[in-house]
Formats: sequence, structure tokens, C-alpha cells
Amino acid sequence: MQSYYVWTVGCQMNKADSDRLESALGQMGLDPKDAPKDADVIVLNSCVVRESAEDRVVGMLTSLKPVKQQDPDKVIALMGCMVGPQTSRLTERYPYVDLFMPPQKFGPLIDLLGERMGIDPEGCIGLLTASADIATYVPIIHGCNKFCTFCIIPYRRGREVSRPLVEIVGEVQGLARRGVREVTLLGQNVDSYGHDLDGNTDLGDLLSAVNDVEELDRVRFLTSHPNDMSDHIIDKIAGLDKVCEHVNLPFQAGDDTVLESMRRGYTNEQYRKLVDKIRDRIPGVSLATDLIVGFCGESQEQFERTVELVRDIRFDKVHSAVYSTRPGTIASRGMQDDVLPEEKQRRFRVIEQLQEQVVTEINADLAGTRQEMLVEGRRRGRWFGRTRNDKLVFFDDDRDRRGELVEVLVDQTGPWSLRGTLVESGRLATTAVASAD
Ligand code: SF4
Repeated sequence: MQSYYVWTVGCQMNKADSDRLESALGQMGLDPKDAPKDADVIVLNSCVVRESAEDRVVGMLTSLKPVKQQDPDKVIALMGCMVGPQTSRLTERYPYVDLFMPPQKFGPLIDLLGERMGIDPEGCIGLLTASADIATYVPIIHGCNKFCTFCIIPYRRGREVSRPLVEIVGEVQGLARRGVREVTLLGQNVDSYGHDLDGNTDLGDLLSAVNDVEELDRVRFLTSHPNDMSDHIIDKIAGLDKVCEHVNLPFQAGDDTVLESMRRGYTNEQYRKLVDKIRDRIPGVSLATDLIVGFCGESQEQFERTVELVRDIRFDKVHSAVYSTRPGTIASRGMQDDVLPEEKQRRFRVIEQLQEQVVTEINADLAGTRQEMLVEGRRRGRWFGRTRNDKLVFFDDDRDRRGELVEVLVDQTGPWSLRGTLVESGRLATTAVASAD
């Protein structure tokens, strides 16, 4: 076993899982490859949250059959949300796959490789930490207890289990020593962190502890749930110097009846009030959201409530999805997926066009401002990074700026990114986003 290929689809949690697995495989001495045919170990990290993602996984799995037939010694593993508690149907359908591993359960692959390569598997499990990019993800809570009616996550990732605070802080310290400047603390419902621990620890406490890690410049967190975004958490975001002013707060639908049938646990008005509070207490905060169009029974009028919310709140980023029934969810058992596919697509385009207009205007206001950004690397011949409130910025410079906090003057804006000119570089103090004056 000398090389591996990891293919990932789905959410940031999946990307974080793949990142950790790749880090462990690298430390075991395996080299990454760009194509499955060149690798001894092939891992597909799957997602079934949307039908389109599942279709891509099935396509990849099918394409691996001849690869395995040609070289039966290759190890093929399927992990992630496609692997539920029962794997018998998957085993029947894909007999050429060697291992089926639920989300985060890399153990069997590490054991198998350890055995074949003569490495102690226990020691290898200890290698499961994120790799050392400039900005990386650190899972802090696994699973979800919410059981929104459209969502398969609680069935595949299980109930909420928080990692101990000291373990997370230890991992972040190690990452910072290896050059990581920014961590994003991850959870399906990150605001719920700690509820299953001692009852006295929450995300706010964890943000404080991670904020104290020397050598680290920035802390982010994903994804919030409106019902668990407490005052304590909001105050910590506002008060801690390394915690970036950006909140990803899914609302999913603007109509109260649709929200109820989704079992989200809040109303349109409660969501708006929460946004007001967040904006009031965290100056300069940017907001992202997730929403679904065409959920079971969503009328045109109900969809308009979603459009209104997007127009009124003016999010910095909207992740919109077309509803598709996921087998095993509450919605799949008793609700009619009755919005026509072409109507779902139309609603999707309405939101996309509106959001493009909104974010174009928001970003245009940043022209002429100075922004602190963390340089993550080079893309298309330019340095790129993000501002504290998560705007992607590009700038030109001849020197290696990777990992530096720099200040740029924004001179071009568009809906998806900004262009700037470097005005100050080096290890700046971590401060709030500079203003235009
Ligand atoms: S909060 Fe709802 S949508 Fe988010 S992971 Fe949990 S069940 Fe799924």
C-alpha cells in the first residue's frame, strides 16, 4: 500500500473528515494521487443529503467496478452519509467495495492498512487530526438531535456527541504550531456544542478557550441553528478578538406553516428578531444562510415569504437548495413532494438572481475600504484570502504572502469576490474590519 485517492462530496463536515483521513494516510507513508486508477487505496466520502449528491456518488461507485476488476489488490472504501447502520444492501449492490464506513468511522480502514503495512493500528488512529493548511476545519460536535423533517443527517451521523473541550483546544494548539492560522469549528449544529457534556460548557466557552491559543489568528464556526444561538454565544463572538464577525444561520423557509412542517422550531418573526439582535451586538457582522425551495406543499404565496426574507435581511451569502425527498426522513414517510420540478427550478432561479443583486450591492459598498485579510494561497496567479467577515479577496504581489495577515484597499468589487491593493503586510494585530474613513 503506497498511495491513496480520496474523493469527497457534500458538506464541510465531510471535507473535514476527508482532510483528517488524508492527514492520517499521509503520516502512514501513503502518497496522494489524482486519479483512482493510480492509487492503491481509493476512498469515496459520500453524501446523500441531496439527490444530486447521491447520484454523483453512485456514478463514482459504478466507475470503480472495472478498476477493481483490473487490479483486485486495490482497497476500495465507501464512507460518509451513504453508509447507514445497515450495510447489507450496499454490500449486495457493490460487492467490489471492500469497506463500508459510516461518517467519521475511519477505524476499519486504518486497521486494515495497519495490518497490511505492519503498522500498529492504535497508533494510526491517533493520527486522525486535520492537516496543516493556513485555514482548516476542526469538528467539535458530531451528529444532530433536531430531526428536521427533510433531513437525513440525524439518521446517518447519529445523535449529538460533543468532543471534550481540552481535546479540541489541544488539537488547535497542535495545528497552530504546524502553521495553521485560522480554524473553523464545525458541527451540524455547532451552537449545540457542550449540551451533552457537563452542562456548564457551551460554544461560547469553547470560543474563549480557542481564542487564547497563541499563534492562531482567527476562529470561525459553522453551522448555527437559530434556536441554539444564545446571548452568551453572541456576546463571545462580539467580544473575542480572534473570533470573526460572520454567522451562518440557516432559515430554510420564510413561511411559518412551511417552517412548522419542516419542524424547524421558530417562526419568520423570531428569526428576524434574532438577526436584529446579532447585528445590533456584533458590529460589521456578515450573515450567510441556507434555504430550501419547493418543500412539500410550498405554495407560490408561501415561497414569496422566502423571497421577502432574502430581500429584507440582505444576506452576504445564500446557499439555496431545491427540495428532493430523501428516503428515511420524516418527510419521506408522510408528506407529498408535490411541487413540480420545473417550478422548483424556477423558484431556485428567483432566489439566485435576487441574491446576486443583493450581494453585488453589499460588496459595492466595500469599494475604497481597507480590509484585513488572511492570505491562504495563490489561485489563478493571484494571492487570495478572506476578510474577517468572509469576503474572498484577491491581490497581486511578488513576495510570498501565504499565512500573513495583510491589509488591502478594495478597488474592485463583484458578487463573488473582491480585488484589492496591498497597503500593509506582516503579522498585524487581530482587529475588527477597518472602515472606509
Ligand atoms: S438542524 Fe435540521 S437540517 Fe441541520 S443537520 Fe440537524 S436535522 Fe439536519
